[in-house]
Amino acid sequence: MTEKDVVREGVNEISKNLGDISFEDQTILVTGGAGFLGSWICDVLISQNAKVICVDNLASGLKNNISHLLTQKNFKFISHDASQPICLGEKIDVVMHLASRASPLEFDKYPIEIIKANTFGTMVSLEIAKKNNARFLFTSTSEVYGDAEVVPTPETYNGNVNPIGVRGCYDESKRCGEALCMAYLRQHGVDVRIARIFNTYGPRMRADGVYGRVVPRFINQALKNEAITIFGDGKQTRSFCYVTDQIEGLLRLAWFDGAKGEVVNIGNPTEITILELAEVVRKVTDSNSQLQFNPLPPDDPKRRCPDINKAKEILKWRPKIELEKGLKKTVKWFKLMIQ
Ligand code: UDP
Repeated sequence: MTEKDVVREGVNEISKNLGDISFEDQTILVTGGAGFLGSWICDVLISQNAKVICVDNLASGLKNNISHLLTQKNFKFISHDASQPICLGEKIDVVMHLASRASPLEFDKYPIEIIKANTFGTMVSLEIAKKNNARFLFTSTSEVYGDAEVVPTPETYNGNVNPIGVRGCYDESKRCGEALCMAYLRQHGVDVRIARIFNTYGPRMRADGVYGRVVPRFINQALKNEAITIFGDGKQTRSFCYVTDQIEGLLRLAWFDGAKGEVVNIGNPTEITILELAEVVRKVTDSNSQLQFNPLPPDDPKRRCPDINKAKEILKWRPKIELEKGLKKTVKWFKLMIQ
């Protein structure tokens, strides 16, 4: 078994779950299509006989995530910065805008690129949707809620964001992206949908340490029996959604006829502390890594957990993969990657 087989298994699972939706012969533009979530979307769509145009400048995405698709006749890769205008010369049915770095450890190094991807990039993508009369999915984030005072957080909560803090580049540009979507809906009638994505993990998360999110960092550290770096006291919480559940939710939101103009939380509602996460990672990797306590980064939200009642009601979607099961699959993929 290779790491590609682990992904293929997941793609088959998503395709089976989405059996009630037809993607056949539709042309989908996926910005950020070589990234963690974007590449899973490209895989599912290609397996469902859709045509995919993947735009990515490989700033944080990886060619390796899509290399197996490059020979497929329905797949086209364009190396391009999604924040810059582009002429595609093809009729597009659905635009999915995922291009943006998303790791907090990148926020102080690339804040301008992040703001451009979520503002200019969203506008460029919305213009394509407008011109083609296409549907538009914006991948927003739980970060629009900032350090939420209402947890589990429903879509009606307006947020508690520090615009000038180190996370401001991401939080505020995603908020602006959402405002742009609603502006294109109100002024031009574009069929927009906004997904607020909560922490998601799984195969194809970047495994190369420095800028990584908490799950790949802990797995890497545990597999090497190195110290697991807990930021702060580790009592802050997150809710982790396995990638196959996330992708199914995003595609349901983009394809469901009744979701025009809707904003929907997509995530797993099981809230755990970062210390608990470290324990589960140690267990599934059979590691004896010690814990190392480091300073908490500024504006790190204290609690994060989605209220997913809206997704359940309108999309008939809910996550199915429990944390330990998802982590086992992720660890399997990581081990195959580093072999
Ligand atoms: N975190 C940690 N150790 C690490 C990396 C992250 O304790 O090595 C914490 C981080 O402070 C945050 C949580 O894990 O509270 C999730 O961090 P991540 O970078 O995955 O993204 P976030 O949810 O903050 O956007």
